[in-house]
Amino acid sequence: MNFKDLGLSESLLRAVTEQGYDTPSPVQAQAIPPVLAGRDVMAAAQTGTGKTAAFTLPLLHRLAAGPAPAGRHCRALVLTPTRELAAQVHDNVEAYSRYLQTRSACVFGGVKINPQIARLARGVDVLVATPGRLLDLHGQGAVDFSALEVLVLDEADRMLDMGFIHDIRRIVKLLPEARQTLMFSATFSGEISTLARGYLVDPVKVSV
Ligand code: AMP
Repeated sequence: MNFKDLGLSESLLRAVTEQGYDTPSPVQAQAIPPVLAGRDVMAAAQTGTGKTAAFTLPLLHRLAAGPAPAGRHCRALVLTPTRELAAQVHDNVEAYSRYLQTRSACVFGGVKINPQIARLARGVDVLVATPGRLLDLHGQGAVDFSALEVLVLDEADRMLDMGFIHDIRRIVKLLPEARQTLMFSATFSGEISTLARGYLVDPVKVSV
């Protein structure tokens, strides 16, 4: 199994090769094909398994094939529990999209909001965000989810542990129902399964 067999575009394969990756990790081999096929995916994978590339690569493949976002629009939203994780995921998005025309941004709290509003005004393909700041931005009219295609909940278990459940529920209510949803979590507790049942449609389950 190599990355080419997974169906990723040449531009993404080039970026992956430059990262020095030879073979897809198990979560990548299992998750990338169904994500490319447009399915919802629920994956149990710890940090260090290559889970970020498992959703970022097929996400970028999909977005690169579609129309550029209009002002304030966001085509894919990745929610993460912490600013550190948001920054890390965003770094991955930037690295893998080197040879694509897609645009991405990263927003989290604890820093000035105005530069984030200005960045979103131009529209983004991928927005990586922590829940609280995202709701602030939405409340200020800085982001428009009407053309959102994909939602990724990264480290969903940690988001619940950190008390983000209400924020997550508020955010999901703002998104179109017709979308692709991906959920990554280190563990699948009862609470996570309940969340998944509410937000994912006939998900492909991946466990590594
Ligand atoms: P993650 O689980 O997404 O935090 O990734 C853990 C680390 O593995 C990161 O430093 C990635 O750059 C690296 N990585 C991801 N996929 C691969 C792969 N297929 N081969 C080698 N390293 C990888």
